[in-house]
Amino acid sequence: MRVKKTGRRGEGANPVIGLPLLTQSQERARTEGLRSVTDGRLKLYDGRADNVGRFLELLRRRLTRPLAASLAGCVHCGMCASSCHYFLVRPDDPTMTPVYKADQIRKIFKRHLDWTGRVFPWWVKAASPADDEDLNRLKNIVFGTCSACRRCTLNCPMGVDTAALVRFTRGLLTELGIVPEGVFNVSRDQWETGNQMAVTREEYLDTLEWMREEVEQELGEPVEIPVDREDCDVLYTINPREVKFDPRSIAQAAKIFHVAGERWTMPGWGWDQTNFGLFSGDDSLGGWVAGNVYEAARRLRAGRIVISECGHGYRSTRWEGYDWAEFDQERPTESVVVTVERSIRRGRIRVDPARNAEPVTFHDSCNIARSGDLVEEPRRVLRLVCSDFREMHPNRTENFCCTGGSGLLSMAEYRPLRMEVARIKAEQLRATGAKLVCTICHNCVDGLTDVIKHYKLDMRVVQILELTARALVLPGPDPS
Ligand code: SF4
Ligand code: SF4
Repeated sequence: MRVKKTGRRGEGANPVIGLPLLTQSQERARTEGLRSVTDGRLKLYDGRADNVGRFLELLRRRLTRPLAASLAGCVHCGMCASSCHYFLVRPDDPTMTPVYKADQIRKIFKRHLDWTGRVFPWWVKAASPADDEDLNRLKNIVFGTCSACRRCTLNCPMGVDTAALVRFTRGLLTELGIVPEGVFNVSRDQWETGNQMAVTREEYLDTLEWMREEVEQELGEPVEIPVDREDCDVLYTINPREVKFDPRSIAQAAKIFHVAGERWTMPGWGWDQTNFGLFSGDDSLGGWVAGNVYEAARRLRAGRIVISECGHGYRSTRWEGYDWAEFDQERPTESVVVTVERSIRRGRIRVDPARNAEPVTFHDSCNIARSGDLVEEPRRVLRLVCSDFREMHPNRTENFCCTGGSGLLSMAEYRPLRMEVARIKAEQLRATGAKLVCTICHNCVDGLTDVIKHYKLDMRVVQILELTARALVLPGPDPS
């Protein structure tokens, strides 16, 4: 099934608006009779359905007061434009401004839910989607031209949350199966397997055992990576990318926890703290995934949930997941960066910054700094474990996105535009003169690695666990 639409007048320069809707993966899922499809959790596109009618019905049903305030509150001052890396790289393309992106849902709201648009539609530019082609065009705007970084949100004098409107619109389209193939595929994997990379239980347990052996060999003493141990202080949850592509980060955490004498465990189920529901706008997926983590903590009577280095996982599990899951979650939930800092401050581990002598800068993940309020903690750790830490500018809540946020890494069709607008990030990175860029987000690791390769920068990406594990001074006489 293909829904194709070329851009309208004024949209000609935008390279993504005319991209078609591809549904091969959806057809396959239908043919295979996946459980998530048959029980209605994973939504498929139906070209014979009244999708515009369903879209408007969902809009009416799901609109909340804060979203309505963001829809009604924009005064079209344009101040948010210079916040957006898309617009900074394409200043002659009005479709790259945050306000243009939000206006695509705003005009539908005005036409159907706001009296001004019902009475004077021409005056307030109210409009309704005419058909599935218009919905597909909307899909390309909200998935393809915004990384939901929230930089414009922070810089809007009226408090308009454009990124929230983008996520809301994504959620309406996800309900209709009008989504990029990558979004469908990752959602499918998370619904079907409980983790977004379809890691099997055997693969997960084998990787933990492999990493346990590695750390044991390195330290020369028995080491555990406990699974499903009850009554521990720490329940450690990770990103499936760590199992699939970067198991060293599990070993680094195990090494630090072991030396710190932490009473910790990993769950056998509910270990994936990432959450594609944040990106697709699907609150039901978001609630189920976050609920798996909260349930694991309750089942094992863990003292606190600790989240490995992941931006959207931190935001979802620490801040948003309680609402989606309607879960009365009382346990403290923290990033592993906070756990590490506590261990250093309390003298449970000792670190030597001279072991990380290369100049290192820090990339604030959007979901951690702007949307997660974790800003100074990683800097404090970096100053303890590295000898040459230097800031990138702008930084903290004003930092620019790695360009791979909001699931864009999974949406191959938008990659050329993503790489084009990554020029802003590349310039930021280059200006630091650092050889290492540290981020506490696995998604940003991939996003930044893409930027570094594309713009041929002489640097590589590291994470705080890696730097801390390298700086760790083991107990006993120092051989040096
Ligand atoms: S979103 Fe805010 S900053 Fe942007 S045009 Fe509207 S009112 Fe102005
Ligand atoms: S959320 Fe970020 S990428 Fe999206 S419009 Fe705003 S500044 Fe641009």
